[in-house]
Amino acid sequence: MTPDRADVAIVGGGIMGSALAYWLTRLDPSSSVVVIERDPTYSTASSTLSAASIRQQFTTPINIRISQASIGFLRQADELLEVDGIGVDIGLKEHGYLYLAQKFQVASLRRAHAIQRELGAEVALLDPTELASRFPWLHTGDLAAGSFGLSGEGWFDGYALLSAFRARARAQGARYLRGEGCGMRTSGGRIGSVRLDDDTEISSRYVVNAAGPWARSVAKLAGVELPVAARRRTVYVISCPAKL
Ligand SMILES: Cc1cc2nc3c(=O)[nH]c(=O)nc-3n(C[C@H](O)[C@H](O)[C@H](O)COP(=O)(O)OP(=O)(O)OC[C@H]3O[C@@H](n4cnc5c(N)ncnc54)[C@H](O)[C@@H]3O)c2cc1C
Repeated sequence: MTPDRADVAIVGGGIMGSALAYWLTRLDPSSSVVVIERDPTYSTASSTLSAASIRQQFTTPINIRISQASIGFLRQADELLEVDGIGVDIGLKEHGYLYLAQKFQVASLRRAHAIQRELGAEVALLDPTELASRFPWLHTGDLAAGSFGLSGEGWFDGYALLSAFRARARAQGARYLRGEGCGMRTSGGRIGSVRLDDDTEISSRYVVNAAGPWARSVAKLAGVELPVAARRRTVYVISCPAKL
């Protein structure tokens, strides 16, 4: 079988692979980009299981800067990701994260807050009286402080964002192939092609591993040992008998 060709082959079409396909075809419309995704329903992908929230309250400058860039994109995503003049609705709601600290946690809350403020994140540090007045339903008896994001934090429709990146990337010329990346041909330390489970071969100058929690097994296809392991995350949905 003659190999299919692409400038960039991306293994994994979740939010990372699809956002990358969008950016590559936006920045260089002449580039040929192929996204290989084994499960287009995304039934076990992190991108569809995600709580799809964004915060600025991180403890390292790099994470804060990434979030600052991301909120700027999310605020304009409905227009930036439109296809044929039809906009999307990712339903961004900027309602803030609230971190709470007991006495022994205050020092680290203050340290993180100082880094966030230094980088321009709008985060307010609140004492128990301020917490009680802003959130009257909150039991503050055992709290020493809280930090609350005043802007740039909240949630959105993660599946809508993923679908919009896919649709826009396709409209810009990216191709999505349904299949599992099962093998890679390497020569002289470089990856030359990816083989799919139906024996299709994509020869490509660059191969991107965007397989999320499966990144380790995809790296192994190229003989690379990557220390990535899946970890369970749990999302609780709480219903409250009283109106907050
Ligand atoms: C429960 C939960 C809650 C979360 N909440 C948040 C949150 O609120 N805010 C936040 O920012 N982040 C959150 N995250 C993290 C966020 O969802 C992930 O960082 C992000 O979705 C990762 O995207 P990804 O594209 O790298 O991986 P994925 O979405 O997992 O995509 C990887 C894709 O690769 C495909 N694939 C794997 N192997 C192969 C192969 N060999 N061939 C072809 N395809 C392959 C898979 O089918 C999958 O679709 C949460 C994660 C979880 C699990």
